[in-house]
Amino acid sequence: MDSHIEKVLWTQDQISRRVTELAAQITHDFNSVSPPPVVVGVATGAFLFLADLVRNIHLPISVDFIRAESYGSGTLSSGAPVLSLDSKLDVKDKHVEDIVDTGTTLSSLIANLVSKGASSVSVCTLLDKPARRKIQVELVGEGKFYRGFECPDYFVVGYGMDFAELYRNLPYVGVLKPECYK
Ligand code: 5GP
Ligand code: MG
Ligand code: MG
Repeated sequence: MDSHIEKVLWTQDQISRRVTELAAQITHDFNSVSPPPVVVGVATGAFLFLADLVRNIHLPISVDFIRAESYGSGTLSSGAPVLSLDSKLDVKDKHVEDIVDTGTTLSSLIANLVSKGASSVSVCTLLDKPARRKIQVELVGEGKFYRGFECPDYFVVGYGMDFAELYRNLPYVGVLKPECYK
């Protein structure tokens, strides 16, 4: 599988160090928040990030998943994310994470959480591509925005992120060789 990768953008070590830093910041910021926050991972892409992040958050939290799909098997967003798995936990304060590209998916997820009564929504994304933003992401209440790395305008795979449902299990984030995007 490594032979399909043209370039590694963030190694397993770099990701691990950054995720530990993010979790420490979240632990600090949510230390006195009551009731305990619900950490909602956006499936499937955030599954490894969620697992690594929550293991380093030293607070009582609940964990859940939500699923939003906008990509199909290509590299261009359809622009209309479909919520195919909804959070089952009762929402008071929520805390979502994702990779933020145009902002479409995240904005619709935040709207969904607010419609279910979230009074505060923070966002923690491993990767942020501000250059591709089409919709400004509006945080809710005391919500904060955390990001691991600013991502250049590449379609990336690994550490949970796929191309056509493959490559999620790579422990690092990289860019595929052009022939692998066919
Ligand atoms: P947005 O709605 O912000 O345009 O896109 C967010 C979603 O698109 C992410 O949750 C992710 O599933 C997908 N996405 C955006 N950029 C990339 C990328 O570079 N690689 C992969 N694998 N998925 C991406
Ligand atoms: Mg996604
Ligand atoms: Mg995908």
